[in-house]
Amino acid sequence: MHYFDHNATTPMLREARETWLEAVDLFPGNPSSLHRIGDRAERAMNDAREELAGLLGCQPGEIVWTSGATESCNTVLRSFADDPTCVAWTSAIEHPCMDLTARTLFKRRHRHVPVRESGSLDLERLRTELGRRRPGFVAAMAANNETGVKQPWPEIRELCRDAKVPLVCDATQWLGKEPAAGLGECEFVIGSGHKFGGPRGVGFLKVAEGRKLASLIHGGSQEDGRRAGTENVPAILAMLRSLVVREKQLAGDGRKERAGWRDEFERAVVAKLKGSRVVGGDGDCGGDRLWNTSLLIMPEADCRQRWVVKLDKAGFAVSSGSACASGREEPSHVLRAMDLSPEESARALRFSANWESTEADWLALREGLLGVAKDLLPDGQLSAAPKRD
Ligand code: PLP
Repeated sequence: MHYFDHNATTPMLREARETWLEAVDLFPGNPSSLHRIGDRAERAMNDAREELAGLLGCQPGEIVWTSGATESCNTVLRSFADDPTCVAWTSAIEHPCMDLTARTLFKRRHRHVPVRESGSLDLERLRTELGRRRPGFVAAMAANNETGVKQPWPEIRELCRDAKVPLVCDATQWLGKEPAAGLGECEFVIGSGHKFGGPRGVGFLKVAEGRKLASLIHGGSQEDGRRAGTENVPAILAMLRSLVVREKQLAGDGRKERAGWRDEFERAVVAKLKGSRVVGGDGDCGGDRLWNTSLLIMPEADCRQRWVVKLDKAGFAVSSGSACASGREEPSHVLRAMDLSPEESARALRFSANWESTEADWLALREGLLGVAKDLLPDGQLSAAPKRD
């Protein structure tokens, strides 16, 4: 089976698994316990805190361990929502764990910051709006989970800093695929282990020193009173191990080569399937996107779920959008924000690779997709076979 749904979740890295197994035996204690076994677990957990802070460029005390990005988003927004005068601005393409939470908690105090047709946040619009009023915070993700479009978060950070408005950056899809350095300068940063080779159910929240955080769940005073509940030490250590492995890979040239395999796949499919196109690309492909992600609008066919099912039978696991939105009939809010019609958005298929995906996997996917297209599409929508190189 060729797995092309890594933006939904990615298998645990061998190194992370080893760390997890070792840690289960090495650190059986509760990190809050006062005895030496507890202390050992606490020290290992704090070493991981230091390591993550070093990668992001922030202070270890600013890192709070959570169960993942959904909890991290909810925690930040809940803290802001306690102030009834706080107005929330979130980019129009945030993951539902940010978008839905903002809409639920802030109701009429919530606004969207638009994106351009390319899928990138409209910086000019943000600059103008920040010149007029001051929201309680801006939330803008680092890279989009559906399109892979990279967001100009360093520029957003500067605009917010000048306007003295805190920035909440959901870096869930960015981490492990692009370098973490510099993210720590955002007031709030959100990450999740299972998107970069760590275990599921573990993540973090970076909170700038001095910012008060209201614990989402009540109980113990773990994480300096910012998140109740016993920390999952083996999962935290395994998450860190996977991020460190990915950061090492990021030091090499692998991203460019992998983006090239993805671009070749897109070029071949778009050339062959009349009416198909790349979302967030620069023309037919390229664009400022994560190297692993391809979102294609397929030619007209009954339903994209048929593509997913047929591709699955052919040995390819792909997605019809974000994991949370797939299966729902509503068109993607991300594609709507990029001015795609509901009809076009209903034809979107997402292919997302990881570091271990090879050029041969992308070539096999292209053949698999074209094979399914033969089944699903009338002959007229297929052009002559793409050139093999
Ligand atoms: N943010 C983004 C950008 C995501 O892609 C996802 C998962 O798809 C989440 C948040 C939610 O992550 P988690 O599964 O850790 O709650």
